[in-house]
Amino acid sequence: MSFDKLNLILPIREALNIEGYTTPTEIQVQAIPPLLDGKDLLGCAQTGTGKTAAFAIPILQNLSKEQRGAKNQKTIKALILTPTRELAVQVGESFTAYGRNLGLKNGVIFGGVSQKPQTDALKEGIDILIATPGRLLDLMNQKYISLQHVKFFVLDEADRMLDMGLVADVKRIISHLPKIRQTMLFSATMPQEISKLMDSILTDPVKVAVTPISSTVDIIEQAVYFVGKKQKKYLLIHLLKDKAITSALVFSRTKHGADKIVKDLTKAGIRAQAIHGNKSQGARQLALNKFKAKKIRVLVATDIAARGIDVEELSHVINFDLPDSPETYVHRIGRTGRAGLGGVALSFCDDDEKKYLKVIQKLISKTIPIIEDHPYPLNLTGSEENKDIIKKTPAAKRSQASYFKKDRPKKVTGRLHVLP
Ligand code: AMP
Repeated sequence: MSFDKLNLILPIREALNIEGYTTPTEIQVQAIPPLLDGKDLLGCAQTGTGKTAAFAIPILQNLSKEQRGAKNQKTIKALILTPTRELAVQVGESFTAYGRNLGLKNGVIFGGVSQKPQTDALKEGIDILIATPGRLLDLMNQKYISLQHVKFFVLDEADRMLDMGLVADVKRIISHLPKIRQTMLFSATMPQEISKLMDSILTDPVKVAVTPISSTVDIIEQAVYFVGKKQKKYLLIHLLKDKAITSALVFSRTKHGADKIVKDLTKAGIRAQAIHGNKSQGARQLALNKFKAKKIRVLVATDIAARGIDVEELSHVINFDLPDSPETYVHRIGRTGRAGLGGVALSFCDDDEKKYLKVIQKLISKTIPIIEDHPYPLNLTGSEENKDIIKKTPAAKRSQASYFKKDRPKKVTGRLHVLP
Protein backbone atom coordinates (compact mmCIF):
# COMPACT_ATOMS: atom_id res chain seq x y z
CA MET A 1 0.00 0.00 0.00
CA SER A 2 1.36 3.44 -0.85
CA PHE A 3 0.28 6.89 0.27
CA ASP A 4 -1.24 7.42 -3.21
CA LYS A 5 -4.13 5.13 -2.27
CA LEU A 6 -5.12 7.26 0.72
CA ASN A 7 -6.58 10.17 -1.27
CA LEU A 8 -4.15 12.67 0.10
CA ILE A 9 -3.82 16.07 -1.50
CA LEU A 10 -0.65 16.75 -3.48
CA PRO A 11 0.95 19.26 -1.04
CA ILE A 12 0.79 16.63 1.71
CA ARG A 13 2.05 13.84 -0.55
CA GLU A 14 4.97 16.04 -1.50
CA ALA A 15 5.72 16.80 2.14
CA LEU A 16 5.71 13.08 2.98
CA ASN A 17 8.06 12.52 0.10
CA ILE A 18 10.48 15.02 1.58
CA GLU A 19 10.23 13.18 4.90
CA GLY A 20 11.21 10.02 3.05
CA TYR A 21 7.95 8.21 3.86
CA THR A 22 7.06 5.82 1.06
CA THR A 23 4.63 3.45 2.74
CA PRO A 24 2.03 4.27 5.36
CA THR A 25 2.37 2.37 8.63
CA GLU A 26 -0.47 0.07 9.68
CA ILE A 27 -2.11 2.61 11.93
CA GLN A 28 -1.95 5.18 9.15
CA VAL A 29 -3.61 2.80 6.68
CA GLN A 30 -6.40 2.14 9.16
CA ALA A 31 -6.88 5.59 10.63
CA ILE A 32 -6.40 8.07 7.80
CA PRO A 33 -9.46 7.16 5.63
CA PRO A 34 -12.07 7.33 8.43
CA LEU A 35 -10.47 10.46 9.84
CA LEU A 36 -10.62 12.14 6.44
CA ASP A 37 -14.33 11.26 6.49
CA GLY A 38 -14.75 13.07 9.79
CA LYS A 39 -15.24 10.01 12.01
CA ASP A 40 -14.15 9.90 15.67
CA LEU A 41 -11.33 7.49 16.38
CA LEU A 42 -10.03 5.38 19.22
CA GLY A 43 -6.43 4.40 18.54
CA CYS A 44 -4.72 1.80 20.66
CA ALA A 45 -1.13 2.57 19.82
CA GLN A 46 2.01 3.88 21.39
CA THR A 47 4.76 6.08 19.99
CA GLY A 48 6.82 4.35 17.36
CA THR A 49 3.83 3.17 15.36
CA GLY A 50 3.49 6.32 13.27
CA LYS A 51 0.40 7.46 15.18
CA THR A 52 1.29 11.14 15.03
CA ALA A 53 1.11 11.20 11.25
CA ALA A 54 -2.05 9.08 11.44
CA PHE A 55 -3.90 11.97 13.08
CA ALA A 56 -1.84 14.94 11.82
CA ILE A 57 -2.26 14.19 8.11
CA PRO A 58 -6.09 14.08 8.08
CA ILE A 59 -6.33 17.14 10.33
CA LEU A 60 -4.04 19.06 7.99
CA GLN A 61 -5.92 17.92 4.90
CA ASN A 62 -9.36 18.72 6.33
CA LEU A 63 -8.18 22.07 7.64
CA SER A 64 -6.59 23.00 4.37
CA LYS A 65 -9.89 22.32 2.57
CA GLU A 66 -11.76 24.53 5.03
CA GLN A 67 -9.12 27.20 4.86
CA ARG A 68 -10.22 28.32 1.42
CA GLY A 69 -12.61 31.20 1.88
CA ALA A 70 -12.66 30.85 5.67
CA LYS A 71 -13.27 34.00 7.66
CA ASN A 72 -12.05 32.96 11.10
CA GLN A 73 -8.39 33.14 10.13
CA LYS A 74 -6.95 33.72 13.57
CA THR A 75 -8.74 31.09 15.60
CA ILE A 76 -7.56 27.76 16.96
CA LYS A 77 -9.23 25.06 14.88
CA ALA A 78 -7.37 21.99 16.07
CA LEU A 79 -6.19 21.13 19.59
CA ILE A 80 -3.77 18.33 20.39
CA LEU A 81 -3.24 17.58 24.08
CA THR A 82 -0.10 15.69 25.05
CA PRO A 83 1.11 14.66 28.50
CA THR A 84 4.68 15.91 28.20
CA ARG A 85 6.54 18.87 26.85
CA GLU A 86 8.86 16.68 24.82
CA LEU A 87 5.98 14.97 23.07
CA ALA A 88 4.29 18.33 22.44
CA VAL A 89 7.44 19.61 20.73
CA GLN A 90 7.69 16.49 18.60
CA VAL A 91 4.05 16.60 17.57
CA GLY A 92 4.55 20.27 16.64
CA GLU A 93 7.54 19.31 14.50
CA SER A 94 5.45 16.65 12.76
CA PHE A 95 2.68 19.14 11.92
CA THR A 96 5.30 21.54 10.57
CA ALA A 97 6.85 18.80 8.45
CA TYR A 98 3.65 17.31 6.99
CA GLY A 99 1.99 20.71 6.60
CA ARG A 100 5.00 22.48 5.14
CA ASN A 101 3.16 23.26 1.86
CA LEU A 102 -0.17 24.30 3.34
CA GLY A 103 0.32 27.70 4.99
CA LEU A 104 -1.34 26.56 8.21
CA LYS A 105 0.25 27.69 11.47
CA ASN A 106 0.86 25.46 14.43
CA GLY A 107 2.00 26.49 17.89
CA VAL A 108 3.26 24.49 20.84
CA ILE A 109 2.70 25.53 24.44
CA PHE A 110 3.96 23.88 27.61
CA GLY A 111 4.93 24.86 31.13
CA GLY A 112 8.33 25.37 32.72
CA VAL A 113 9.32 28.17 30.34
CA SER A 114 8.37 31.83 29.95
CA GLN A 115 4.88 32.22 28.55
CA LYS A 116 5.73 35.38 26.58
CA PRO A 117 6.90 33.79 23.29
CA GLN A 118 3.85 31.50 23.47
CA THR A 119 1.37 34.32 24.05
CA ASP A 120 3.03 36.36 21.28
CA ALA A 121 2.54 33.46 18.87
CA LEU A 122 -1.06 33.06 20.01
CA LYS A 123 -1.73 36.73 19.35
CA GLU A 124 -0.41 36.35 15.80
CA GLY A 125 -2.85 33.53 15.21
CA ILE A 126 -2.48 29.75 15.37
CA ASP A 127 -4.57 27.21 13.46
CA ILE A 128 -3.31 24.11 15.25
CA LEU A 129 -2.42 24.23 18.93
CA ILE A 130 -0.37 21.50 20.58
CA ALA A 131 -0.37 21.82 24.34
CA THR A 132 0.25 20.18 27.68
CA PRO A 133 -2.77 20.51 29.98
CA GLY A 134 -1.34 22.71 32.77
CA ARG A 135 -0.07 25.57 30.63
CA LEU A 136 -3.12 25.42 28.39
CA LEU A 137 -5.46 25.90 31.36
CA ASP A 138 -3.24 28.66 32.65
CA LEU A 139 -3.36 30.58 29.37
CA MET A 140 -7.09 29.91 29.03
CA ASN A 141 -7.60 31.43 32.48
CA GLN A 142 -5.59 34.44 31.39
CA LYS A 143 -7.85 34.72 28.33
CA TYR A 144 -5.06 34.23 25.82
CA ILE A 145 -6.79 31.16 24.45
CA SER A 146 -10.32 30.42 23.41
CA LEU A 147 -11.28 26.93 22.31
CA GLN A 148 -14.69 27.85 20.92
CA HIS A 149 -13.69 27.33 17.27
CA VAL A 150 -11.95 23.97 17.76
CA LYS A 151 -13.21 21.39 15.27
CA PHE A 152 -10.52 18.74 15.70
CA PHE A 153 -9.45 17.47 19.10
CA VAL A 154 -6.76 14.88 19.78
CA LEU A 155 -6.07 13.42 23.19
CA ASP A 156 -2.65 11.82 22.81
CA GLU A 157 -1.24 9.20 25.18
CA ALA A 158 -4.34 9.29 27.35
CA ASP A 159 -3.07 6.54 29.66
CA ARG A 160 0.00 8.58 30.46
CA MET A 161 -2.17 11.57 31.25
CA LEU A 162 -3.73 9.29 33.85
CA ASP A 163 -0.35 8.09 35.18
CA MET A 164 0.76 11.67 35.55
CA GLY A 165 -2.40 12.79 37.37
CA LEU A 166 -3.54 15.02 34.52
CA VAL A 167 -7.01 13.61 33.89
CA ALA A 168 -8.86 16.26 35.94
CA ASP A 169 -7.14 19.00 33.92
CA VAL A 170 -7.98 17.19 30.68
CA LYS A 171 -11.65 16.97 31.65
CA ARG A 172 -11.71 20.67 32.48
CA ILE A 173 -10.25 21.47 29.06
CA ILE A 174 -12.74 19.22 27.29
CA SER A 175 -15.61 21.07 28.99
CA HIS A 176 -14.52 24.18 27.07
CA LEU A 177 -14.59 22.50 23.66
CA PRO A 178 -17.52 22.86 21.27
CA LYS A 179 -19.82 19.82 21.37
CA ILE A 180 -19.65 19.42 17.62
CA ARG A 181 -16.14 18.40 16.73
CA GLN A 182 -14.08 15.44 15.57
CA THR A 183 -12.32 13.67 18.44
CA MET A 184 -9.38 11.28 18.34
CA LEU A 185 -8.13 9.50 21.43
CA PHE A 186 -4.87 7.58 21.49
CA SER A 187 -3.75 5.36 24.32
CA ALA A 188 -1.32 2.45 24.50
CA THR A 189 -3.40 0.77 27.21
CA MET A 190 -7.05 1.13 28.22
CA PRO A 191 -7.35 1.46 31.99
CA GLN A 192 -10.94 1.75 33.24
CA GLU A 193 -10.78 5.47 33.79
CA ILE A 194 -9.66 6.03 30.20
CA SER A 195 -12.40 3.85 28.77
CA LYS A 196 -14.93 5.83 30.82
CA LEU A 197 -13.50 9.08 29.49
CA MET A 198 -13.51 7.64 26.01
CA ASP A 199 -17.21 6.79 26.26
CA SER A 200 -17.99 10.33 27.27
CA ILE A 201 -16.03 12.11 24.54
CA LEU A 202 -16.16 9.87 21.46
CA THR A 203 -19.18 9.39 19.25
CA ASP A 204 -19.43 6.08 17.45
CA PRO A 205 -15.66 5.89 17.02
CA VAL A 206 -13.71 3.77 14.58
CA LYS A 207 -11.43 1.56 16.67
CA VAL A 208 -7.94 0.77 15.55
CA ALA A 209 -5.25 -1.07 17.47
CA VAL A 210 -1.67 -1.81 16.60
CA THR A 211 -0.36 -4.48 18.95
CA PRO A 212 2.45 -2.52 20.49
CA ILE A 213 3.89 -4.95 22.95
CA SER A 214 4.53 -7.93 20.77
CA SER A 215 5.50 -5.97 17.66
CA THR A 216 7.89 -3.71 19.54
CA VAL A 217 9.34 -6.46 21.62
CA ASP A 218 9.80 -8.82 18.70
CA ILE A 219 11.95 -6.54 16.60
CA ILE A 220 14.27 -5.44 19.37
CA GLU A 221 17.31 -7.48 20.25
CA GLN A 222 17.25 -7.80 24.01
CA ALA A 223 19.81 -9.04 26.48
CA VAL A 224 20.42 -8.94 30.19
CA TYR A 225 23.63 -8.66 32.18
CA PHE A 226 23.65 -9.87 35.76
CA VAL A 227 25.88 -7.45 37.60
CA GLY A 228 26.39 -6.14 41.12
CA LYS A 229 24.82 -2.77 41.95
CA LYS A 230 28.19 -1.14 42.53
CA GLN A 231 29.68 -2.64 39.37
CA LYS A 232 27.01 -1.29 37.03
CA LYS A 233 28.89 1.89 36.25
CA TYR A 234 32.02 -0.06 35.30
CA LEU A 235 29.99 -2.35 33.09
CA LEU A 236 28.38 0.64 31.37
CA ILE A 237 31.75 2.24 30.68
CA HIS A 238 33.04 -1.11 29.45
CA LEU A 239 30.11 -1.56 27.05
CA LEU A 240 30.36 1.98 25.73
CA LYS A 241 33.89 1.25 24.57
CA ASP A 242 32.18 -0.55 21.72
CA LYS A 243 31.80 1.95 18.89
CA ALA A 244 28.86 -0.05 17.53
CA ILE A 245 26.84 1.75 20.18
CA THR A 246 26.38 4.93 18.20
CA SER A 247 23.69 6.43 20.40
CA ALA A 248 22.47 5.13 23.72
CA LEU A 249 19.55 6.16 25.85
CA VAL A 250 20.37 5.04 29.39
CA PHE A 251 17.52 4.74 31.88
CA SER A 252 17.96 5.46 35.53
CA ARG A 253 15.23 4.96 38.12
CA THR A 254 16.06 8.21 39.93
CA LYS A 255 17.10 11.74 39.03
CA HIS A 256 20.02 11.53 41.42
CA GLY A 257 21.08 8.25 39.82
CA ALA A 258 20.92 9.84 36.36
CA ASP A 259 23.23 12.66 37.44
CA LYS A 260 25.61 10.17 39.03
CA ILE A 261 25.79 8.11 35.81
CA VAL A 262 26.58 11.23 33.78
CA LYS A 263 29.32 12.14 36.26
CA ASP A 264 30.89 8.68 36.03
CA LEU A 265 30.71 8.62 32.23
CA THR A 266 32.15 12.11 31.95
CA LYS A 267 35.04 11.08 34.20
CA ALA A 268 35.66 8.17 31.85
CA GLY A 269 35.75 10.55 28.87
CA ILE A 270 32.33 9.65 27.46
CA ARG A 271 30.12 12.57 26.42
CA ALA A 272 26.81 12.23 28.23
CA GLN A 273 24.02 14.42 29.53
CA ALA A 274 21.01 13.82 31.74
CA ILE A 275 17.40 14.81 31.32
CA HIS A 276 15.03 14.65 34.25
CA GLY A 277 12.40 16.68 36.04
CA ASN A 278 14.91 18.75 38.03
CA LYS A 279 16.43 20.17 34.87
CA SER A 280 14.88 23.24 33.31
CA GLN A 281 12.88 22.73 30.14
CA GLY A 282 15.56 24.63 28.21
CA ALA A 283 18.32 22.35 29.50
CA ARG A 284 16.27 19.24 28.68
CA GLN A 285 15.51 20.36 25.16
CA LEU A 286 19.13 21.37 24.58
CA ALA A 287 20.39 17.98 25.75
CA LEU A 288 17.81 16.22 23.59
CA ASN A 289 18.72 18.29 20.53
CA LYS A 290 22.43 17.57 21.03
CA PHE A 291 21.66 13.89 21.33
CA LYS A 292 19.52 13.90 18.20
CA ALA A 293 22.26 15.75 16.32
CA LYS A 294 24.69 13.05 17.56
CA LYS A 295 26.81 15.63 19.38
CA ILE A 296 26.51 13.57 22.53
CA ARG A 297 26.47 9.82 22.42
CA VAL A 298 24.73 9.03 25.64
CA LEU A 299 21.56 10.52 27.07
CA VAL A 300 20.66 9.47 30.59
CA ALA A 301 16.99 9.80 31.42
CA THR A 302 14.39 9.03 34.03
CA ASP A 303 11.14 7.45 32.85
CA ILE A 304 9.04 10.60 33.10
CA ALA A 305 11.58 12.73 31.24
CA ALA A 306 11.94 10.13 28.49
CA ARG A 307 8.22 9.90 27.70
CA GLY A 308 7.53 10.67 24.12
CA ILE A 309 11.19 11.02 23.22
CA ASP A 310 11.54 10.10 19.61
CA VAL A 311 15.05 9.74 18.33
CA GLU A 312 15.24 8.23 14.91
CA GLU A 313 17.88 5.55 14.61
CA LEU A 314 18.58 5.25 18.31
CA SER A 315 20.91 2.26 18.37
CA HIS A 316 20.71 1.20 22.01
CA VAL A 317 18.54 1.48 25.06
CA ILE A 318 20.37 0.55 28.23
CA ASN A 319 18.43 -0.11 31.41
CA PHE A 320 20.95 0.82 34.06
CA ASP A 321 18.21 -0.04 36.56
CA LEU A 322 15.39 -2.42 35.79
CA PRO A 323 12.00 -0.79 36.27
CA ASP A 324 9.59 -2.28 38.81
CA SER A 325 6.74 -2.13 36.30
CA PRO A 326 7.05 -4.43 33.27
CA GLU A 327 5.03 -2.00 31.10
CA THR A 328 7.70 0.61 31.77
CA TYR A 329 10.28 -1.84 30.44
CA VAL A 330 8.31 -2.17 27.22
CA HIS A 331 7.93 1.60 26.93
CA ARG A 332 11.65 2.04 27.53
CA ILE A 333 12.86 -0.46 24.98
CA GLY A 334 10.34 0.93 22.49
CA ARG A 335 12.49 4.09 22.31
CA THR A 336 14.65 2.05 19.97
CA GLY A 337 13.11 -0.01 17.18
CA ARG A 338 11.11 3.02 15.98
CA ALA A 339 8.78 2.65 13.04
CA GLY A 340 9.87 -0.89 12.40
CA LEU A 341 13.61 -0.35 12.67
CA GLY A 342 15.47 -2.89 14.77
CA GLY A 343 17.38 -1.88 17.87
CA VAL A 344 19.17 -3.28 20.87
CA ALA A 345 17.99 -3.09 24.46
CA LEU A 346 20.42 -4.13 27.18
CA SER A 347 19.45 -4.42 30.83
CA PHE A 348 21.55 -4.52 33.96
CA CYS A 349 20.08 -6.69 36.66
CA ASP A 350 21.43 -6.86 40.20
CA ASP A 351 20.34 -9.23 42.94
CA ASP A 352 17.46 -7.03 44.09
CA GLU A 353 16.11 -6.64 40.57
CA LYS A 354 15.70 -10.30 39.69
CA LYS A 355 12.08 -10.14 40.78
CA TYR A 356 11.48 -7.37 38.24
CA LEU A 357 13.11 -9.42 35.50
CA LYS A 358 10.73 -12.27 36.22
CA VAL A 359 7.62 -10.14 35.75
CA ILE A 360 9.04 -8.48 32.66
CA GLN A 361 9.67 -11.86 31.05
CA LYS A 362 6.16 -12.89 31.96
CA LEU A 363 4.62 -9.81 30.33
CA ILE A 364 6.59 -10.11 27.10
CA SER A 365 6.26 -13.93 27.10
CA LYS A 366 9.92 -14.24 26.37
CA THR A 367 13.10 -15.24 28.13
CA ILE A 368 15.59 -12.47 27.67
CA PRO A 369 18.97 -13.90 26.70
CA ILE A 370 21.71 -13.50 29.28
CA ILE A 371 25.16 -12.27 28.41
CA GLU A 372 27.59 -13.99 30.70
CA ASP A 373 30.72 -12.99 28.92
CA HIS A 374 31.51 -9.70 30.66
CA PRO A 375 34.04 -8.55 33.25
CA TYR A 376 31.63 -7.92 36.17
CA PRO A 377 29.44 -11.01 36.49
CA LEU A 378 27.26 -11.81 39.47
CA ASN A 379 27.69 -15.35 40.66
CA LEU A 380 24.44 -16.90 39.55
CA THR A 381 24.90 -20.57 40.00
CA GLY A 382 23.38 -22.63 42.75
CA SER A 383 20.41 -20.64 43.99
CA GLU A 384 16.92 -22.05 43.50
CA GLU A 385 15.57 -18.61 42.79
CA ASN A 386 17.94 -18.10 39.89
CA LYS A 387 16.92 -21.30 38.20
CA ASP A 388 13.67 -19.65 37.13
CA ILE A 389 15.41 -16.80 35.47
CA ILE A 390 18.31 -18.55 33.84
CA LYS A 391 16.62 -20.59 31.19
CA LYS A 392 19.50 -20.63 28.86
CA THR A 393 18.72 -20.24 25.22
CA PRO A 394 21.23 -20.65 22.40
CA ALA A 395 21.15 -16.88 22.06
CA ALA A 396 22.05 -16.51 25.71
CA LYS A 397 25.31 -18.25 25.09
CA ARG A 398 26.28 -15.84 22.38
CA SER A 399 28.88 -13.32 23.44
CA GLN A 400 27.97 -9.67 23.62
CA ALA A 401 30.03 -9.06 20.49
CA SER A 402 27.52 -10.90 18.37
CA TYR A 403 24.83 -8.48 19.54
CA PHE A 404 26.75 -5.43 18.63
CA LYS A 405 27.74 -6.69 15.23
CA LYS A 406 24.16 -7.10 14.09
CA ASP A 407 23.43 -5.19 10.92
CA ARG A 408 20.98 -2.38 11.49
CA PRO A 409 18.54 -1.02 10.55
CA LYS A 410 16.22 -3.72 9.35
CA LYS A 411 12.65 -3.01 8.33
CA VAL A 412 9.93 -4.91 10.11
CA THR A 413 6.27 -4.15 9.84
CA GLY A 414 4.01 -4.08 12.89
CA ARG A 415 1.05 -6.42 13.25
CA LEU A 416 -2.35 -4.91 13.31
CA HIS A 417 -5.75 -5.90 14.41
CA VAL A 418 -8.97 -3.98 14.59
CA LEU A 419 -10.80 -3.98 17.90
CA PRO A 420 -14.14 -5.74 17.93
P1 AMP B 1 5.19 8.16 16.12
O1 AMP B 1 4.62 6.82 16.45
O2 AMP B 1 4.19 9.11 15.60
O3 AMP B 1 5.96 8.71 17.31
O4 AMP B 1 6.25 7.96 14.93
C1 AMP B 1 7.43 7.23 15.09
C2 AMP B 1 8.46 7.53 14.03
O5 AMP B 1 8.04 6.97 12.78
C3 AMP B 1 8.72 9.00 13.75
O6 AMP B 1 10.12 9.18 13.74
C4 AMP B 1 8.14 9.27 12.40
O7 AMP B 1 8.89 10.25 11.72
C5 AMP B 1 8.25 7.91 11.73
N1 AMP B 1 7.21 7.64 10.73
C6 AMP B 1 5.88 7.87 10.85
N2 AMP B 1 5.21 7.45 9.74
C7 AMP B 1 6.13 6.93 8.92
C8 AMP B 1 6.06 6.33 7.61
N3 AMP B 1 4.92 6.17 6.97
N4 AMP B 1 7.21 5.90 7.05
C9 AMP B 1 8.39 6.05 7.72
N5 AMP B 1 8.53 6.60 8.94
C10 AMP B 1 7.40 7.03 9.54
